[in-house]
Amino acid sequence: MQAPDKNRLSINTATVRQQWNLKQIIDGCARHDIRGISPWRDQVQALGLQQTAQRIRSNELFVSGYCRGGMFPGVDAQARRAADEDNRRAVDEALALNAACLVLVVGGLPGESKDLAGARSQVRDGLGRLLEYARNVGMPLAIEPLHPMYAADRACVNTLEQANDLCDELGDDGLGIAVDLYHTWWDPKFYAQLERAGRKRILAFHLCDWLVPTRDLLNDRGMMGDGVIDIRAARLAVEALGFTGAHEVEIFSAHNWWQRDPDEVLETCKARHQSHC
Ligand code: ZN
Repeated sequence: MQAPDKNRLSINTATVRQQWNLKQIIDGCARHDIRGISPWRDQVQALGLQQTAQRIRSNELFVSGYCRGGMFPGVDAQARRAADEDNRRAVDEALALNAACLVLVVGGLPGESKDLAGARSQVRDGLGRLLEYARNVGMPLAIEPLHPMYAADRACVNTLEQANDLCDELGDDGLGIAVDLYHTWWDPKFYAQLERAGRKRILAFHLCDWLVPTRDLLNDRGMMGDGVIDIRAARLAVEALGFTGAHEVEIFSAHNWWQRDPDEVLETCKARHQSHC
């Protein structure tokens, strides 16, 4: 089996966020010779945007994606306008960090709503508005479909097919998909929809494993190799389509990896990247 390129490994900062602040994570990646990083907005805000950009540059790291924008549906026009403004700020921050894309978790049902179709059309409209802004400044937007268990509260775009449909509808200039295996591995159309997305639309590739049993739907993701996802098959498939971006490890793990020495976590990510991705 063809081993992955070590230089493509990227750490989504959520993976060690309970142990380290962003400055420590940047230094940790550099120390472990991990070249990619994907930071979250709250951490960047805490460290300062310019300071973050400068530290990432001076350590010669690349930013595989910026987490995150989205949350388009709102209870009223005012709420949607506030989301629009915040999303434009996220685009600007992603530019300052020279991120490969801004990752979008699109949002679920607003307030007490039960109108899932309505939420999905609010997502399409909000995405369209943001896309206009992002295209002008040259920041690619990556729609991240989330597992359907999050349809109500985080993202009502739940499959690669839905994300592809949005790209068809809005035009895929500057718009694509963040393929996160945790959210998409189960989908019977996974490989067909990857192919439909093709090289142009696949903007990010997020890795972790699905544990059996999964004890917490948000914070019990597995290290690559500890679960049931054929990560290597998926990675070879996206690369066969021409994807040359990062293999971004994103593990939320309240009871295991967040409890460990973060240096050990990064070393394990490196080793499992080679053996299981
Ligand atoms: Zn992800």
